[in-house]
Amino acid sequence: MLLNQILKLKNNFEAIGIANTFINWFEFFSGYMSEELDDFQIFVKPIGAKCNLHCSYCYYLNKENLYASESYKTLPEDILEEYIIQHFEASSGTDVFFSWHGGEPLLAGIEFYRKAIELQNKHKPESFTVYNGIQTNGILLNDKWCRFLAGNDFYVGISLDGPAEFHNAFRVYRDGRSSFDKALEGYRLLQQYNIRNEILCVVSSVNVRKPLEIYRFFKSLGVRFLTFLPLVIRDISKPGQVSDISVPAEEFGQFLCKIFDEWVLEDIGRIKIQIVEEAIRPAFGQEHSLCIFKKICGRVPVVELNGDFYSCDHFVDHEHLVGNIMKQSVSDLLNSDKQKNFGMAKLITLPEYCRQCDVREMCNGECPKNRFVTAPGGEPGLNYLCAGYRMFFRHVKPFAEAVGAEWRRRNR
Ligand code: SF4
Ligand code: SF4
Repeated sequence: MLLNQILKLKNNFEAIGIANTFINWFEFFSGYMSEELDDFQIFVKPIGAKCNLHCSYCYYLNKENLYASESYKTLPEDILEEYIIQHFEASSGTDVFFSWHGGEPLLAGIEFYRKAIELQNKHKPESFTVYNGIQTNGILLNDKWCRFLAGNDFYVGISLDGPAEFHNAFRVYRDGRSSFDKALEGYRLLQQYNIRNEILCVVSSVNVRKPLEIYRFFKSLGVRFLTFLPLVIRDISKPGQVSDISVPAEEFGQFLCKIFDEWVLEDIGRIKIQIVEEAIRPAFGQEHSLCIFKKICGRVPVVELNGDFYSCDHFVDHEHLVGNIMKQSVSDLLNSDKQKNFGMAKLITLPEYCRQCDVREMCNGECPKNRFVTAPGGEPGLNYLCAGYRMFFRHVKPFAEAVGAEWRRRNR
């Protein structure tokens, strides 16, 4: 049955059933992440850009040179402790989330995270609750790691780009060996140890034409949280062009629509797809949780190996170095003019084409890093992925409006 047919039948039992299942599920999952946690998230890099894989599409690998001259290879304890103290001080709520990223953050070793937890417990105000999340390629996951992660209630994001043929197209070791088997083994271990996890799947020109094959593969693994990340690598030698492996914009939209259609009929209440949740948030009067869809960004900075604080994971360069946490507090850096201007630029530079767009509140022009094409009419600064987002958000809109209306009716 087509989604639109379901939604047009307002008194159709199935439509109401779908809406109710969705609302219950949405309220359950979105409440925790959006309302109670702070409005900032810091990507901490305990080993900088160092990684045990050499994925050909990685945007962070070349940052390894930034701190090559430092005598240490892991975030030193004094910087770690200072960071933890400052993160608590900067938090306005009592639920505090620490996000460990890389490179491959498991390379820092279990003892590093044991120390981090010890320091969190030492400095945590009594009423605070601490959460830890880590983003990994899964290669190092073993029983020892999983006992530790489960024992300390970590959330784990793991990168898998679909079945082996798609995953291995880019996600390889330095010598070109494929990494799929190890990554899948890591994912299975996370499940075995009941560790809360999310699969992050990069969508490129290689896997974009196989939406259902990829989605069903993840379903067969028993995934509950799923994020699709479009691969966009700008070709700076050709204006408005991207590399061959980048996802074509319209095909990305088709990919998402196909998955949404299956999800809405089969998987509501079982699987959370991040971009679907984001698309529906405005209908519930909720702010986006993902920076790329917010009106204003700048609340997801990076703290690198030596305490350097950058505006965003996609802008770790000299121009976007805001300061160092050993000289200024996290709170001051977050609220500095430089950081605020960075975030505000997302709104200020939004093209008129986006301002007039019927799905603007779902999209908000997505991430400024992808705004390098020309809008119809010649206006510069349109997002490369626009055609895909427009297609997907328009596709989801009837559903979002239907469940939003049902939710408002219930809460009258
Ligand atoms: S530049 Fe993009 S990724 Fe960075 S904070 Fe802004 S929206 Fe998010
Ligand atoms: S769909 Fe396109 S026009 Fe609409 S807000 Fe997004 S990028 Fe702008």
